[in-house]
Amino acid sequence: MDRLTLKAMAKINLGLDVVRRREDGYHEVRMIMQTVNLYDRLTFEKKKEDTLQMETNMKKLPTDGSNLIIRAASLLKEEFGIREGLAVRLEKRIPVAAGMAGGSTDAAAVFVAMNRMFGLGLTQEELCERAVKIGADVPYCIQGGTALSEGIGEKLTALPAAPDCHVIVAKPSIHVSTKWVYQNLHLENVKEHPDIDGMVESIREGELSGVVNRLSNVLETVTVPKYPVIAQIREFLVNNGALGALMSGSGPTVFALYDDGQKAQRALEELKKTKLAAQSFLTSFAEHTCIE
Ligand code: ATP
Repeated sequence: MDRLTLKAMAKINLGLDVVRRREDGYHEVRMIMQTVNLYDRLTFEKKKEDTLQMETNMKKLPTDGSNLIIRAASLLKEEFGIREGLAVRLEKRIPVAAGMAGGSTDAAAVFVAMNRMFGLGLTQEELCERAVKIGADVPYCIQGGTALSEGIGEKLTALPAAPDCHVIVAKPSIHVSTKWVYQNLHLENVKEHPDIDGMVESIREGELSGVVNRLSNVLETVTVPKYPVIAQIREFLVNNGALGALMSGSGPTVFALYDDGQKAQRALEELKKTKLAAQSFLTSFAEHTCIE
């Protein structure tokens, strides 16, 4: 196989709790991860000469060794002594630095593609052992679907598909650094933690109302006071027919869940008129990622 194109899907967090800060500075989390049908497209092409290169339509993204695509490919190239070259074309559609794991899902696609193209014969578990070295969310991005993510993100429990619904994803124009959010999280002041176990139960029972009632992200305690636009988008969507809305990951993207597609479409049109969001999409939950 000399050429392969994969869709690398974004994720949202239906729930996000931070349990504690470890001695080494990492945070232990409990997160409900959900793949959404919003994706980057990556095209991989083998090259005869031993090179590793990438290009992208998104001018502001690095294409050197700081891009997670190059880091993931280098890791496998070195470990398996791959002497052929690889060229990657990234068509970026997932909002960048948005809390949607855009970079992590691109890296996940590299692991999946190279395993197939170079016949490495790695199981999903073996891919994930390597993927966590690139980023805590990369193993989940290989697995996809609905999952409980614990530890620093590497302990994954697959869950049944979350109840079907329509999803608006809206990113304001601000940039929020994940590092800044975690540095400013004061766990001792957090009074209410998300009910992650209750959310898992609701997903297992296929109850959308149980999921909606438990939408909660502890990182909102940091980002929302600093960036009121996040709360404004959330409230706008709830006032426009959403069952519930929440910030994803460390933000600033907000997502909203709808049980009625037409209502969601109308809300998206109204949201676009307000200019609160720089990017907004109507999408749905997905069960798989890194697909052709
Ligand atoms: P997470 O939800 O995991 O916190 P995110 O959505 O907040 O991720 P990304 O879109 O992954 O953030 O990008 C964060 C930074 O990583 C960007 O500012 C970018 O410079 C860098 N980066 C490296 N590789 C990539 C990539 N392939 N796609 C996007 N960003 C990348």
